[in-house]
Amino acid sequence: MKNEVKSTCCYCGVGCGVVIETEDGRITGVRGDPDHPANRGRLCTKGATLHLTADSTYRLRYPEKRAVRGGARQRLAWDAALDEAASRFAETIRTHGPDSVAFYISGQLMTEDYYVFNKLAKGLIGTNNVDTNSRLCMSSAVAGYKQTLGADAPPCSYEDIDQAKVILIAGANPAIAHPIIFRRIEDAKAANPELKIIVVDPRRSESAELADLHLAIQPGSDIALFNGLLHVLIAEGMVDLDYVEAHTTGFAALKEIVRNYSPAVVADLCGVPAADIVKAARWFGASKASLSMYCQGLNQSAHGTHNNAGIIHLHLATGQIGKPGAGPFSLTGQPNAMGGREVGGLANLLSAHRDLGNPEHRAEIAKLWGVPFVPAKPGKSAVDLFKSLKTGEIKAVWIACTNPAQSLPNQAAVREALQAAEYVVLQEAYGNTDTADYADLLLPASAWGEKQGTVTNSERRITRVRSAVLPPGEARHDWEIVVDFARRLGAKLEHAAADRLFPYADAEAIFNEHRETTRGRDLDITGLSYSQLEAQGPQQWPYPADATAGRTRLYEDGRFPTADGKARFVAIEHLPTAEATSLEFPISLVSGRMRDQWHGMSRTGTVPRLFNLEDEPLLALHPCDMRHRGLATGDLARVTNARGAMVVRIAERVGLKKGRAWMPMHWGNQFMNTAGSNAVTSDAIDPYSMQPELKHAAVQITRLDLP
Ligand code: SF4
Repeated sequence: MKNEVKSTCCYCGVGCGVVIETEDGRITGVRGDPDHPANRGRLCTKGATLHLTADSTYRLRYPEKRAVRGGARQRLAWDAALDEAASRFAETIRTHGPDSVAFYISGQLMTEDYYVFNKLAKGLIGTNNVDTNSRLCMSSAVAGYKQTLGADAPPCSYEDIDQAKVILIAGANPAIAHPIIFRRIEDAKAANPELKIIVVDPRRSESAELADLHLAIQPGSDIALFNGLLHVLIAEGMVDLDYVEAHTTGFAALKEIVRNYSPAVVADLCGVPAADIVKAARWFGASKASLSMYCQGLNQSAHGTHNNAGIIHLHLATGQIGKPGAGPFSLTGQPNAMGGREVGGLANLLSAHRDLGNPEHRAEIAKLWGVPFVPAKPGKSAVDLFKSLKTGEIKAVWIACTNPAQSLPNQAAVREALQAAEYVVLQEAYGNTDTADYADLLLPASAWGEKQGTVTNSERRITRVRSAVLPPGEARHDWEIVVDFARRLGAKLEHAAADRLFPYADAEAIFNEHRETTRGRDLDITGLSYSQLEAQGPQQWPYPADATAGRTRLYEDGRFPTADGKARFVAIEHLPTAEATSLEFPISLVSGRMRDQWHGMSRTGTVPRLFNLEDEPLLALHPCDMRHRGLATGDLARVTNARGAMVVRIAERVGLKKGRAWMPMHWGNQFMNTAGSNAVTSDAIDPYSMQPELKHAAVQITRLDLP
């Protein structure tokens, strides 16, 4: 029998709606949902081939365990698997305390999955050691919004693209990483040839090809550029002083700092012409509808939070926020990094944008959950979590829907940490990831087309995710696995509230509880329900109980969710990258995305046609750097630094400046008989967001046949 089910694409944060076609319980096709506001029926190459990933032979179908690390995997029953996991976690907690266990989860999970993982860790066990791979992509955006605007809330919508007069794309390559958004930018440019597009990117990216101005800045010099743009805006009288006076604080201190960021100084720091800096500032200041779109290039930096603050300052200074076509708009990397943030899915957050460091917020959540307290001690963020595994401070880790052995920086250290862990549980749809090699227990989870719940995309839009088919074998939904484990663990720990903490019969019951935690908060969704989302379609938050529609744009009234209602300028200065290039390691390596692959390729790597465009990770170098090393396009080269080494094929790239290299991030041991880019990436982290500096590593590159 044929059927069709509406759901979402599971790849990037654009959050495109899809229609899944099925026949006799199998997924047979996929097409864009014409009714979904994010994509209006369009899909990119990845989304359009989702149905080809549905029958992957690499799926994990049954719980499996290893008697010894690295040994053969043996099938076991769910009861035995979850009892074993509960016993090991309970024993570890009793012996070493709640902070001896940790959960490392994923922006690929549903909001409901995220919610129960957080309740399990922070409510039942009493540890804040629950962090996510969203730490690698969006935590600097979170911290940047909170430092300046007071809350982690992207103020814009996709429709602002259609209304903007200037679009500043910084540290993002939407042509490749957010293709359906880029189609919309192309449409806007076609409809309005006067629209100015500025792209800030160390290399001439695919998005830069559409730009009226490309600022190929030195990696890590974003703050200098933004301070320089603000310098010009001030010098040319383009600051909206009335807006600054009425709606912000801290401008005077930042103004004093940016006096030193003249175009000449910034040109030197950033490696771009001073005239281009002036031109960009004039376009931005004069348009009255400037939209900034930014992503990992700003976030994946040891100064990622201040990179975000720097770009937000430009909007506050010119009053270009909360208005059509204007505002700072962080692009979300993963499909549900936003939903994870909504339920407090990071080691320093609590549900509904509450802060762990705030005693009132902890008390509110403890009351909502019916537990005596939520612990005050911050949990370990991603990089520190794995370092703590290596030292033995954390002994047992539960990893869900992510592949840290490939995706975390400084890969050798992460793999040592996994090897050192006393107990590793992996909850996954795929059984062949690099992390699976380290798992003592593997629990099969449902995947795209099978999952249920909700996700939130880059523009705060919540969409239902619906099951089109059943999971294969004995695979279960992520929330079901967590709830079953939590009940068993609660019983073993003799937790007083264990019976009533996890009463959920389905994902909707979890959504309804999550919804209550948002009441009165900036992301209040008490007006939403599964049935209402069915009837009205995907909706943007906030959507309080008395609303009839979601909010397109935030801060239209100039009031911000800070104590005094005003946004804040932050006194930021340019800082160098955490790691400097040197004679020994003279090349700055930037990693990024390819159009047809997604993250570690667990899913896209199973679709042959997605290798048609590029079938291996090519490392791009400037012709001078190639000549200097005796390299020609197609040669194999060794890329090294103190953290590790990899072998890749070289390609000439004219749009890259001397001393810089670029390569895709997707490949790892699973698809290539050597390590991927994370063999050499740095685990230096931003002090506010704890996001690692994945966008710059100092490396040496040599011909493979040279010693
Ligand atoms: Fe999926 Fe993103 Fe492509 Fe849309 S743009 S189809 S969400 S990968």
